[in-house]
Amino acid sequence: MIAEIIAAGSEMLTPYRQDTNSLYLTEQLNDLGVQVAFKTIVGDNLEHLTGAARNAISRADIVIFSGGLGPTEDDLTREAAAAALGVEVRRDPSLLAEMYKRYAARKMVMPPNNAKQADVIEGATVLANANGSAPGQFLETTIGGYRKIVILLPGPPGELKPMFAQVVKPMLAAALPPQHLARRTLRMALIPESQVDARTAPIYKEFTDVETTILAGHGEIQLHFVASKTTLYEAQGRVDELTGLVEAEMEDAIFSSHGENLEEVVLLMMGLRHLTLAAAESCTGGLLASRLTAVPGSSRYFLGGAVVYSDALKTTFAGVPAELVATEGPVSEPVAKALAEGIRARTGASFGISITGIAGPTPGTGPDAEKPIGLVYIALADGSQTRVKELNLLGNRDRIRWWASQHALELIRVTLLESQAF
Ligand code: ATP
Ligand code: MG
Repeated sequence: MIAEIIAAGSEMLTPYRQDTNSLYLTEQLNDLGVQVAFKTIVGDNLEHLTGAARNAISRADIVIFSGGLGPTEDDLTREAAAAALGVEVRRDPSLLAEMYKRYAARKMVMPPNNAKQADVIEGATVLANANGSAPGQFLETTIGGYRKIVILLPGPPGELKPMFAQVVKPMLAAALPPQHLARRTLRMALIPESQVDARTAPIYKEFTDVETTILAGHGEIQLHFVASKTTLYEAQGRVDELTGLVEAEMEDAIFSSHGENLEEVVLLMMGLRHLTLAAAESCTGGLLASRLTAVPGSSRYFLGGAVVYSDALKTTFAGVPAELVATEGPVSEPVAKALAEGIRARTGASFGISITGIAGPTPGTGPDAEKPIGLVYIALADGSQTRVKELNLLGNRDRIRWWASQHALELIRVTLLESQAF
């Protein structure tokens, strides 16, 4: 059972407006155990809209249109859907009478164009619109031996959402066989997508009834699993079984399997061990602290820290010897170490973490002048030892800064996993 959503409206083919209705509809359909296989955005053009409707009706079991139900020339969804279904639209006299009445009640005369909103596709049920004038439509039919459900909804989100939730969802639930979706997302940091795929594809390819998607970006790989079954127990069981096998293969590379992000996981691990953290950041300018403090409740484990962008502040705020900065350069292993140890000592945290690097596009100065853009050092001090990592990151300033913060979080996570001491 698959669905297609068609968002009608030329404004969504400009750089200024997004089709957000389909996100809501997808969430709702998933709730009913229905997966969305296609989404189409079409301008207000009868030929294009009819073509899109034909495609959708031929390839999906459920087709939901959003928008184009208004009274104006460019509201073409009724005509397009009817043409694609090979049926007529008929002006519904009771609907029309109701519309006249509604205008009369407000002492207004209904503009003649509005009559169009009483056009109903042959065989469709009219769906009342509690928040606007354009009624929706619901049609169940058989085409070429296949059962199809076609639904027309108004475009404004404030009308579409209540109409779906209150009217369409119960109708769909009654019309569809019971079906449940289960999902799981496994997240891994700083590991190449090709490596994840090489190791996990032989496993997930065996699960032909679980849809698997790999997403890469922002120093993270996500594996998404979705299964659709007649019971939630069965769907969850299949997804859990696959998750278990992939976890056994990828082991500690997986930082979360229930949706948590890396900073949440790091803070959770610190909390479980009653540890605290402080940060001294140079090239990331507080990005790491910002990510950590975005997690509710982080204040118990993340004490704070300092943005030590200038050489002088590295000394005054984090206690790095000025000679060390002058001789080694601020972007160097010894300075990273001294920063982590210094911020730890100054704050009394169990761990001090530091980030210092050249984010570009301008090169470093002084002893750093010859060092490449993307060179970053991160260090983690725990009081007995200090780990340092040298990174050679690629990309623009934003990317280098993000990846540096990602590496810092992953260094904390891996250190806590590997060490028996904490
Ligand atoms: P109706 O069916 O009620 O006539 P419409 O598409 O004809 O809807 P418009 O006047 O084109 O009505 O759009 C009304 C508002 O709804 C606009 O702000 C439009 O951007 C918004 N809208 C339409 N479709 C979507 C969508 N898919 N996602 C988000 N907003 C949408
Ligand atoms: Mg529109």
